[in-house]
Amino acid sequence: MTELTVDAIAEPQAIDQAPARPSLSPSRAADFKTCPLLYRFRTIDRLPEQPSPDQARGTLVHAVLERLFDLPAPQRTVEQAAELIEPQWRQLLEEQEELAGLFADTGTPEEFLASTRGLLDGYFAVEDPRRLEPAERECLVTTEVDDGRLVLRGYLDRLDVSPAGDLRVVDYKTGGAPREAFEARALFQLKFYALVLWRTRGVVPRVLRLLYLKDAEICDYTPDTDELARFERTLIALWAAIERAIEAREFRPKPSRLCGWCAHQALCPAFDGTPPPFPERPPPPPQDAERPEADE
Ligand code: SF4
Repeated sequence: MTELTVDAIAEPQAIDQAPARPSLSPSRAADFKTCPLLYRFRTIDRLPEQPSPDQARGTLVHAVLERLFDLPAPQRTVEQAAELIEPQWRQLLEEQEELAGLFADTGTPEEFLASTRGLLDGYFAVEDPRRLEPAERECLVTTEVDDGRLVLRGYLDRLDVSPAGDLRVVDYKTGGAPREAFEARALFQLKFYALVLWRTRGVVPRVLRLLYLKDAEICDYTPDTDELARFERTLIALWAAIERAIEAREFRPKPSRLCGWCAHQALCPAFDGTPPPFPERPPPPPQDAERPEADE
């Protein structure tokens, strides 16, 4: 879930300060891997994207689940979660003005909130939050790779730690798109978090868990050190490719079934569109890592 931010661009050098290092988040890394032009539109052109109802619903469900774990364990019931929907939605509307236009073309707020309840039912079908005490929620994780030349950072939905010290990274998936279309991307993001946790805590997470709330299904994956070491090399190579693309100002479209969820088809040559001129100066990066991202 989340807002879009610019990362993966070297931070400007302040006077008398060492050069700041570029940083890469899992969503933007996944963007470049999915389609370099999509990465450019989101990260360099910073084109706005009107959230879809599915994305807004995902943001709302993440917020509700986040608040739910603030309650004492016995109170974390499906009824309490449903009670949180409206106040959390009001808060999101205050924070993100663009959400106000959500129902201009389709649906009503009442239908939207009712469908959110359906996703929460999906969550309670696969987990009982009364039996869980997450170690971290909406947690920023960050590390350096490539001898400190690249910073990896991002927000994970939830981190569970067992009494024996085993880590479980949990990601809530709420999107309305077929999950096969996005599973590789979701796993890529989870491996990103696993790598950061391994590098910062010296422990490889025992489980990477995708919770598909719409389908009420769990997908668990167990990474190992060899795989994460390879993944680290992949990210470093990905960053090198991004740097080359920025230098050459060349970000090619890479059409795939994910184009169906791309907000920028009208500007994409693969759909007879024309991208805007490449910015003379890429925008400055954010001070913070991107927030968790809304499911596509
Ligand atoms: S429409 Fe497809 S090819 Fe074009 S920018 Fe979007 S994801 Fe890339």
